[in-house]
Amino acid sequence: MVQTSDISAAAKALKAGELAAFPTETVYGLGGDACSDTAVAAIFAAKGRPQFNPLIMHVESLEKARSCGVFGDRAMQLAKHFWPGPLTLVVPKQPDCAVSLLATAGLDSIALRVPAHPAACQLLKAFAGPVAAPSANLSGRLSPTQAGHVRDQLGGKVAAIVDGGPTSVGLESTIVSCLTEPPSLLRAGGVAREDIEAALGLQLAGGEIEDGKPLSPGQLQHHYAPEASLRLNADAPEEGEALLAFGPAVPAHGGLILNLSPSGDLVEAAANLFAHLHELDAKAQAIAAMRVPEVGLGEAINDRLRRAAAPRTLDV
Ligand code: AMP
Ligand code: MG
Repeated sequence: MVQTSDISAAAKALKAGELAAFPTETVYGLGGDACSDTAVAAIFAAKGRPQFNPLIMHVESLEKARSCGVFGDRAMQLAKHFWPGPLTLVVPKQPDCAVSLLATAGLDSIALRVPAHPAACQLLKAFAGPVAAPSANLSGRLSPTQAGHVRDQLGGKVAAIVDGGPTSVGLESTIVSCLTEPPSLLRAGGVAREDIEAALGLQLAGGEIEDGKPLSPGQLQHHYAPEASLRLNADAPEEGEALLAFGPAVPAHGGLILNLSPSGDLVEAAANLFAHLHELDAKAQAIAAMRVPEVGLGEAINDRLRRAAAPRTLDV
């Protein structure tokens, strides 16, 4: 691991599929090539996160953002007004967008942001592709606002840490979904709701109370639900089921089988999870999933499989 102000070393690490931590104006991000399933799986593994929530893709410009997402009038208005800056926009994913399905948690929407921090801008320009980056801390720990925080928590797991000094905002980005009309506030953060409402000339949805409960981002968080039925912890597939296998001991099956990791590697399994689910969903009406051990990334894989098996609940 190098702690460096050398942007090109960090860009090289990203190109090699490794992780690089970098400062943004909100907090330090743990970046990986958003188009690489393996790099994105490595982000989750490094954080020790028990859930695969969709990540924010960082890009250098609105133009680059538009190659990943579909920007309607509202999204254009917000991007032009607040980018670069601490505002994340959720928009429909471009059909030909190369971003990893694991990074968007299998959703057909995508969260995009153009950060303002000069080091982040330089890194994104040098890398020249979308960078998936959650905050660069271990799951459950405080978000890092200095390079030293990242080194203490993730030093052994990243190829480079770009040291840009303390971050200025220190708060996460505000997340606005442009999938609704009016757009909705999914997470409060570095840009105030009032400023967004003033820019749009209308009130944002979200932040309301429904059935006595606040509509918090966690509760609003949609998740990928296959159309096919999904049976978990299957020892063997039944007639008509496609098999989502894991590990070397795969039961004999005449139908379709996709293996998350023939060697039983959980990082490889995470990298394949959504791509395999999408492919099985397109080709089969019923999917049986073999047991995945509840250790390491297995916890997050099982969490997603359980959500995918119970697709009609939004309150997760
Ligand atoms: P963080 O891990 O702090 O970078 O936060 C990422 C957050 O962005 C997730 O927890 C989601 O709440 C939100 N997010 C990312 N992508 C989407 C999406 N496609 N739809 C809704 N929310 C999203
Ligand atoms: Mg975080």
